[in-house]
Amino acid sequence: MIRDLLCMTAPVREGFDIPCHEIGPKTSHPGAALVAGLHGDEINGIFILSRLADFLNGVETGKYPELRLVRRVLIIPAVNVLGVNLRTRTWPFDKSDINRMFPGSTTGETTQRIAYAVLEATKRADYRIDIHTASADFEEIPQVRLHGPSTEERETARLFGLPAVMERSLSPVFTTTMMSSWKIWPGQSFVLRVGQAGLVQLDHCQRVFRALVAFLGRIGVLEGVDIAAEDEEVCCFNKASAFRVYAEKAGTFVSDRQVGRWVGSGQELGYIYDSFSGNVIEKVLSPVAGLLTGIRRHPLLFEGDLILRVNKKG
Ligand SMILES: [Zn+2]
Repeated sequence: MIRDLLCMTAPVREGFDIPCHEIGPKTSHPGAALVAGLHGDEINGIFILSRLADFLNGVETGKYPELRLVRRVLIIPAVNVLGVNLRTRTWPFDKSDINRMFPGSTTGETTQRIAYAVLEATKRADYRIDIHTASADFEEIPQVRLHGPSTEERETARLFGLPAVMERSLSPVFTTTMMSSWKIWPGQSFVLRVGQAGLVQLDHCQRVFRALVAFLGRIGVLEGVDIAAEDEEVCCFNKASAFRVYAEKAGTFVSDRQVGRWVGSGQELGYIYDSFSGNVIEKVLSPVAGLLTGIRRHPLLFEGDLILRVNKKG
């Protein structure tokens, strides 16, 4: 079933609403809640969750007779609906970041009301997943991000089967994120970061789609999933394992490397060209042996810009 999470009116146009899928048996609270598009330009997550909703609706209508939903799944593919239309990260009317508006309120600004409605719908779920991307300039490997995790969350994070689990402490500064609000409730919370903003990166999206289906199988929400199918190595990285390379010179950065590949120490990963003469002014080398987990995709570099990140296996 698709329902409107929140209907809003606008001064000089038709009203608009945030669609929300509720799929599976009516239970007191959802087994899993999945959210994307808090940032309107992060299209990978929106695409993944709309496809997942379609797939699970197919399960419900008997399209996949071997599969059965035993718990309810709640999916909100695009929280920042207007931002998606205008291709903006923030809420278009007041440029506010919806992921800085939690826990929200029923009477405040539109974005506070959105935050409140999203939190109310998702907070009682046993497992909560929020999907993001990096910026439009940078590509991240599909990964699970843990923020100040519990022991259970650290173990569960492996069940996605994604190649990297990145652990961070819970930010003492950004306490108004959805993750911070989720943390107060029983259950487990995860952020997935997938690729870069502004694009549908089909390889990444398909991988994360399969990861979510396997995850729903492993946590017992979706029965009949062949969960042994993909048994890839999952690497867990803490903050200290990350080695970053910053541009020492401005220019045009070009690389044909893909995120998710293991690289050697000193391996050439890209080149900075003089933007006018075309000369190579710098070879960009991997600082350590490890997994290439992020790389700049916008070619125009200023001095000091982040070019890439390699994570060393602990
Ligand atoms: Zn985001």
